[in-house]
Formats: sequence, structure tokens, C-alpha cells
Amino acid sequence: MEFKNNTPYSELFDDIYFSQADGMAETRHVFLNGNNITARFSSLEPNEIFKIAETGFGTGLNFLITAAEFLECAPETAHLYFYSFEKHPLSSDEIQQALSQWQQNFGDIFQNLLNEYPLRIGGWHTLDIHQRITLVLIFDDVLNAAPELPTHIDAWYLDGFSPAKNPDMLHADLFNGMAKKSHNSTMVSTFTAAGIVKRGLAEAGFEIKKIAGFGKKRDMITGTFKGQDKPKHYINQAQSVAIIGAGLAGSMLAHTLSNAGHAVTIFETHEIAHGASGNAVGLYNPRFTAERTPNAEFYSAAFVNAYALFKNLQQDHDIDFDPSGAFHLITDTAKEKRFGACLESWAWHSDHAKIIDPQTIKIETGMDTKYPALWLKQSGRVSPYKLCKILTAHKTIIYNEVINPIFINAKWHIESQMFDHVILCGGHLSSKIIQAASLPINAVRGQITFASIEDTNLNNIFCYGGYVTPSAQNNNYIIGSTFQPWLDNVKSIPEDNDDNLKKLSAVLPISSDKFSITGDRVSFRASSTDRTPIIGALPHTHNLWISSAHGSHGLISSGMAALVITDAISGRPARLPQKTLDAISPIRFENRKKNAK
Ligand code: SAM
Repeated sequence: MEFKNNTPYSELFDDIYFSQADGMAETRHVFLNGNNITARFSSLEPNEIFKIAETGFGTGLNFLITAAEFLECAPETAHLYFYSFEKHPLSSDEIQQALSQWQQNFGDIFQNLLNEYPLRIGGWHTLDIHQRITLVLIFDDVLNAAPELPTHIDAWYLDGFSPAKNPDMLHADLFNGMAKKSHNSTMVSTFTAAGIVKRGLAEAGFEIKKIAGFGKKRDMITGTFKGQDKPKHYINQAQSVAIIGAGLAGSMLAHTLSNAGHAVTIFETHEIAHGASGNAVGLYNPRFTAERTPNAEFYSAAFVNAYALFKNLQQDHDIDFDPSGAFHLITDTAKEKRFGACLESWAWHSDHAKIIDPQTIKIETGMDTKYPALWLKQSGRVSPYKLCKILTAHKTIIYNEVINPIFINAKWHIESQMFDHVILCGGHLSSKIIQAASLPINAVRGQITFASIEDTNLNNIFCYGGYVTPSAQNNNYIIGSTFQPWLDNVKSIPEDNDDNLKKLSAVLPISSDKFSITGDRVSFRASSTDRTPIIGALPHTHNLWISSAHGSHGLISSGMAALVITDAISGRPARLPQKTLDAISPIRFENRKKNAK
């Protein structure tokens, strides 16, 4: 972004972000008046959710003006969801620069936007800008992402550069995608009255009106969709929820559900973080695939969310959060291809991910290696054990094994208590509960090794199939992890420690005589047969949910799972694309079987 005559300007599109004359007045005229926003906000019912989608977040000016209007006009319990698509996200510094002249108009929400602004990583990022205002920033091409909206929209802000400068966006596919996500009173407005937009919207089913444009523009368009009625969307009342299992999955849920106002009781057979979540140190990173698949959307959103959560938590708590980056060594041609393709398709800004050669690794870390690496700059380590402790602090915890919750008269009954919802968070043991017995969840044994290393300047995290990370204590390293789906041995195996160290010596210049093993830990991670987490409502039951199969990525995956389930229990719109919700849903296994017939 640059400035042209004091107005933010895009070199890429050779066009301005908003009117040189008066950006604020333009937004009010084109988008707020064009969608009858003030009257519609004022007439919302208690707890009703109003949903807007915008093409092109840009500087966030439209969002901020709309959010301020919502706080001014909407009833106190109403909620605004603002989905905004952006293919070329600006940085938060650029946004601050672009809008500095108006910042006093927006009070805290402007600062909140800057504080909450996500890493520039392709994906769906949800920002709680205000207790009653949720912004879902979708860093993707609107043509790909709009059809994936998981909810219907009440008002469309069809913004964008002029049709001549951005013909790829103002396209029949976009108008048809919008139509699929509209209902009988959905409105649209746009700054232009170009024929291609007018005809496109009309052909997609909007009844179009031409009205006076803003400033020098003679005309603009507003419209109303002619389609099916949809029920209004309301936030649910507070619910009572039983969480079974106090590892990362359960702890994250306890935290997000109680933040959303629900009453939470945790049941745990052993102690908090008894399984793999009890490791003193864990790495957080996504599971990379070459393509930007539905799973990739999940992991990108989960990574961005986890990074923001850890950053916030560490301000008041000791969680051993160290976001100093991770070097994923590229040790073979398959990885070279996968990481290369991934970097292209996942759309992570180079501030967050890049491929570097061995010389740069040496400069950054002091370590000699013959391999290049995918450098994830905001990746790092945190203590899962401390996280679980903090997230479950001040929650009701009952130390008892839950055998079979029973559903009678619209309530779940556990040990003479009643709950509106039950969530299974017991890792691979979740499938011991009868309603989840058919889910293909396996236990994967993992042994990690604790060691000190003589004469080393190893201060960074490296991943290479295995991984090494400095721990929070000096000259102590954690080297992991074996991956043994076939073993159920709960005891440590000396050869597994040797294997862990051997893998490390093969990629970094640390010979085996420099290690002194100081300990080890065995735990079991839950994994599904398609290696995708299982998150959502269990089929053929009522209000029974599961968050499991987080595999080796539980530190990021469990947090996103908790948000997805909390949204559903709260009656809120979902925060991920529909195809991703489908890919993680427990019903997928059943659907696949049906489709295979
Ligand atoms: N609404 C913005 C504001 O309040 O500042 C101004 C939007 S600006 C005129 C248009 C935006 O659309 C740019 O930020 C641009 O990067 C984005 N954009 C262009 N083509 C896009 C596409 N195909 N998908 C998503 N965003 C796109």
C-alpha cells in the first residue's frame, strides 16, 4: 500500500482503497445506507445475530464504521458477525497509517482491531473485536471462499477496486456464490453501477435498483435477494456442559466454554494432563500438505489462533511460551516438493514462513547442517502441562471415571448430575463411551527423551521427522518422538531413546558421545484413520460432542476444536469454511461408507 494524494492506494491494482473526497462519508452512503443498515440494526431482537459479508477488507474502514454504528443502534444483547474476504492483506501498521485521521471516531474498536489483527496467513481468522462484535477475516480469494460461508448473510458489501482494475473478482461466479448464501431479505450494495455487476447480480437473483452514487460517481446499485425465507439467528442461553477428560482438548474447551458464559464441569479419571498433554514442553506447528486442502484451512486457522492465545496467556501466566521459530529441515526430495508447494498454496506471508538455505540456517542459529529448511518464524514451544493447569484453574473438576452418560428427558445424566451437553475429550479412550464406539480412533505410542548435550550451541527448534527443542531449563533438551501405532507398552524402552538421539545426530552436528540422557516419558496420542482430528457433534445422538484425534498437533488443533464446538453450543455462526467443518466432523466416516456403496 502507498499513499496517493493522501489516500491509501494499491500499486497492485493501480486504484485507491476509498474516496479521496471523504472515505467515511462514502462508506456511509454506499454500504450503510445502501443496505439500510441503521434501521436494520435498530430493529434487531434481543440475542439476534446480524451477519454481513464484505468483498475486500482492505484498510478495515467499512468494518469499523459498521461496528461503531452497531454499538450505537443495536439492542444490547444483539451480536454482529462481519465476514470479510481479503486476498492481499495489509499489515496492521499499514492499516493504522491508512486510518490514523479517523481513529478517534472508533474508540476502542480501532485499537482492538490492531491488537487482534492476525498473522498474515491464508485462512479464516476470527477476532473478538468487542463482546458483541465478531470479525471473521478470511485471507483468501473471495471466489474460492464465499461459497464456503457456513451461514446465510443478511447484507453484502460488494466493495472492491473498479471493475476495470479488478475484472477477476467482479465475476458471475462471485454473484452466484453470494446468491447461494442469501435469503429473502438479504440486501446488497456496491459503489459501482457497471453493467457487468448490474447484470450479474440480477441474473443471480437480486432485484436491483440504481440510486445516486457517492461524490463524482453518478450511480451505484442496491438490491434485495428474491429467494427463500430463513429463520432468524439467535445466540443461545448459557448451557451446562460436562467435559470428559482434562487433557489439552478438555482444558481448551473448559476455557472457551466458560469464556462464552457456559457452566462447565470436568470429569477426569486420573489427574489434569495425565496423557500426552502432560509433557513439559511441546512444539506447536501445523500439519503440512502440498495442497491447500480443507485440512490445511483448519491447521492455518488453528496455528494463528494458538499463537494469539499463547501470547495473551503468557502476559499473566507462566506457560514457557517461546515463539522463537522452528526450522523444518528438508531432508529429502518428497519434503522439498511438499514444503515448496505448501508455501505457494497455503498463502503464508514471508514474514511467517519461508524456505532458507543451509548458510542462512547457520547465520540464524549457528548450526551447521547440509539441509535447507522451511523456517516458521512464529512457531515455537510452550508447556502443554502448564497450559492445561491454567486453562482448568477455578473450574469444577470431578475426579471419577465416567462409564456411560445417559440421555433422558432432554438432559444428560452423569453421577446424579444433569447437563445440557456432554463433550468427549478422552483421547483414544473416548471410543470407550458407547455412542462413540464406532469412531476409528487409535492410540499412537510416543516416547520422548530428555538429554543434556555437551559443547553445543543448539538454541533453536529443529524438526526433521523427529524434533529437538531446548527446554525451559538450561542445557536440557527434549528430543522426540517415536511414532508407534503398533505398540501399547506404557514403560520406557531404552532403544527408543537411542533412536531419538540417532535421528538428531543424522541432521545436526552433534555426535552421540555428547549426549547424557536424563530421563524420558511415554504417552499415547489419539489419531484417526484419516489422520484428521475428529471434532463436532456425534451423529444419531443429542448434544453429545467430541474433540479427539489431535495426533501430534494437539497444541494448535485442540484450541480450534474448542472454539468450533463452543460456537455450535452457543448458537453462533461457525468460524471455518463449510468444507473444513465437513472434513473434521465425526459423521464423515459414516458418509464415506454410504457414498462407497
Ligand atoms: N473495504 C475496504 C476498506 O474498507 O478499506 C476497501 C476495499 S479495496 C477498494 C478492495 C480490496 O479488495 C483490496 O484490499 C484488495 O486486495 C481486495 N481484493 C481484490 N481482489 C480480491 C479477491 N479476488 N478476493 C478477495 N479480496 C480481493
